[in-house]
Amino acid sequence: MTLKVYNTAARSLQEFVPLREGEVRVYACGPTIYNHAHIGNFRTFLFFDLVHRHLEYSGYGVQFVMNLTDVDDKVIQAAHEAGSTIEEHTKPFGDTFLADCVSLGVWTVDSYPRATMHIEQMVEFIERLVDKGHAYSAEDGAVYFSIESFPEYGKLKGIDTSTLIAGSRVEHDEYDKEDARDFALWKAATEEDEEVGAAWDSPWGRGRPGWHLECSVMSTMQLGDTLDMHLGGEDLVFPHHENEIAQSECATGHPFVRYWMHVKHLFVEGRKMSKSLGNFIRVRELLEEGYDPAAIRHLLISSHYRGELNFTRAGLKASGVAVQRLMDFEARLSQLETADDAEESALPGLAEKVVLDFRSTMDDDFNSAGALGVLFGFVTKVNAELDAKGRVSTSDRDLALGALRSMDTVLGLLEVAQASRVIDDDLSSWVERMIEERAQARASKDFARADEIREELSAKNIVLEDSAEGTRWKVVN
Ligand code: AMP
Ligand code: ZN
Repeated sequence: MTLKVYNTAARSLQEFVPLREGEVRVYACGPTIYNHAHIGNFRTFLFFDLVHRHLEYSGYGVQFVMNLTDVDDKVIQAAHEAGSTIEEHTKPFGDTFLADCVSLGVWTVDSYPRATMHIEQMVEFIERLVDKGHAYSAEDGAVYFSIESFPEYGKLKGIDTSTLIAGSRVEHDEYDKEDARDFALWKAATEEDEEVGAAWDSPWGRGRPGWHLECSVMSTMQLGDTLDMHLGGEDLVFPHHENEIAQSECATGHPFVRYWMHVKHLFVEGRKMSKSLGNFIRVRELLEEGYDPAAIRHLLISSHYRGELNFTRAGLKASGVAVQRLMDFEARLSQLETADDAEESALPGLAEKVVLDFRSTMDDDFNSAGALGVLFGFVTKVNAELDAKGRVSTSDRDLALGALRSMDTVLGLLEVAQASRVIDDDLSSWVERMIEERAQARASKDFARADEIREELSAKNIVLEDSAEGTRWKVVN
């Protein structure tokens, strides 16, 4: 089976071949930690996580780096407004970002470099560009990249550089999307920068690195001159990633990235997410409102990363139902009474096929929507088989359970759902005692007591399900 990825640079699906066999080096543009990450950011971060998990699932050795932007225009402005330094201001947001990642099951990556930790390497990188004639220092104390010096500029986005005005400059990190003139690698420190601790010494005087430069330096420093994959949201294609290519290829003399992948932006209730529309939702808020993190994860991976995804509360509730269905299925299988003299079942065949289908669907440009379809199709078929057969052998049951768990190492839904419903042993044995007492009450026709027990459990979010196989219980949110 071969992995195919849609490479933004080639504008087509390509077979994935890493630089070194069996190894994949990935760099992803992480959050700017001037505020809490929102659900749009997490659509992108959950895609990063799917890539990470699926590559490992496919047997690759993965080296994954995601930066945290802790100095840029937005960070400086936010720190200034809060009356703190950038270090004080970004620390809690960096911490909650990592905590949100844990809640939503985003695997830890190998390294989370922060720009402020690598200023020295950034200065050296700029010096290399100046020495090679790709950058120049200006009277305003800044150093600019010369677009004219790199004829391939524009290749990622596919723009014609002859229309650009050579030698005219862009001063801000948040460029107009269509703007592609000489951009700053280093910016002279302003009074505000000094006040918030965003200024360092350099051969060009006090200043700070430009945002694009930060990613070029941290990625090549940690992963080498050529990366296998570089990931980010679609808004980063231009100019951020275009500029990263220019800086990196001119500094190292090698191709920078083999495959570029970009995630389409999330919509909320059918509209672009923005503060002014009041539909700006942070992951924190949803978790604090008591939404199941596994439901958030399900919703955000339920659409292919290059396709539209519209976040609605109704959609989140439907995702909660899907996650619960998966939990119920897992509980049914793991609590199933098996019989080794049971006749043959369809489970081994279904288990073998589902894993193959799942892999090939994920291999098709990380098609998580299709993979969820494959998974839930399996749930339906296995449930039907269990209903029909009543009893199956332990080995058949274990094959089905193994297939389910194998797919979940990539999707992470049971993983997150189970982690957020950790039940201590005391509660568990109390529930078992209550179920036993209820069974006795029913046997002696004391239905009032049986109902009372059901209500007592329900008050603790524990729901009972009676079936021919006995009484099962689950915790619901
Ligand atoms: P930022 O914190 O703004 O630097 O963004 C961090 C990552 O989230 C980047 O890769 C962005 O492209 C991505 N991102 C920002 N807004 C959205 C959105 N609405 N939907 C999906 N990804 C987004
Ligand atoms: Zn970046």
